[in-house]
Amino acid sequence: MSTKVRVRFAPSPTGGLHLGGVRTVLYNYLFARHHGGEFVLRIEDTDQARFVPGAEEYILECLRWCGLEPDESPVHGGPFAPYRQSERKEIYREYAEKLVASGRAYYAFDTPEELEAMRSTYKSEENPSPQYDHRLRGKMKNSLTLGESEVKKLIADGVPHVIRINLPENETVSFTDMIRGEVSFNTATVDDKVLLKHDGMPTYHLAVVVDDYQMKITHAFRGEEWLPSAPVHILLWDYLGWKESMPQWAHLPLILKPDGNGKLSKRDGDRLGFPVFAMNWKDPRSNDFTQGFRERGFLPEAFVNLLALLGWNDGSGTEIFTLEEL
Ligand code: GLU
Repeated sequence: MSTKVRVRFAPSPTGGLHLGGVRTVLYNYLFARHHGGEFVLRIEDTDQARFVPGAEEYILECLRWCGLEPDESPVHGGPFAPYRQSERKEIYREYAEKLVASGRAYYAFDTPEELEAMRSTYKSEENPSPQYDHRLRGKMKNSLTLGESEVKKLIADGVPHVIRINLPENETVSFTDMIRGEVSFNTATVDDKVLLKHDGMPTYHLAVVVDDYQMKITHAFRGEEWLPSAPVHILLWDYLGWKESMPQWAHLPLILKPDGNGKLSKRDGDRLGFPVFAMNWKDPRSNDFTQGFRERGFLPEAFVNLLALLGWNDGSGTEIFTLEEL
């Protein structure tokens, strides 16, 4: 196992980078610098429906402006390029198939209409939002309920299908978060998440585990919205035989609205006089310009300093730190 500290920032190119995202980069970056480690940028572009052209360039430009540049590029000797999940599609498929072969995942052939019908049929007081889980998977169209030859035929006929993780019915999964300490989940509350989609693309759950393993990531700082997915990821590390290499996680709290009620939005930023989405960004879907920090004369050093102090100080009352000092 690699002992060199390796961290990653793994944005989805779905639009402008939120302040909270830049803070996640900063924490990863500072942790790597502090430990003489490496910082990797990975573009998680497997959700074709939410892909925004130009977002990757925007993210890179934003990191450059902040002085938080990644250390490693898969393209050696050329201009910097991040890892891109869309270019690694075959790798994820291979692992998804391995999980099916070992019984840790299964093919599911249900149509969107069948899934919808399942949700309304099994909705009850005890189960208000039915999930695809140990309670219901036995009633659905998948390789756990169909015969082997039928499954082979459906696949050979090109019938659309996904691969889902086969979660245990009632198992406690625990880990130690660098911020929260011991966290435990019971798998009874988690559904059999899709790992590989109809279009052959992995979901975040499979891709994050495969990539963190292959990229030898030792510590992962990510937004706390991913905390509920942690049990699925931990089980995948285990099922793929990589448990010993699992990174240490830190789930960072969201940057909240001034009244503490929900995530800081663009509108809050407008009210407070600063942009919540860093830098100049034209969202091709809405044709909306977000006023950039640069245009308003904000210095990158001041911006990075502000982000570092959101939720941290060194106890001395010092308010101004350079990136180097941080
Ligand atoms: N693509 C995920 C996001 O944009 C990354 C989460 C992670 O860092 O693992 O939130």
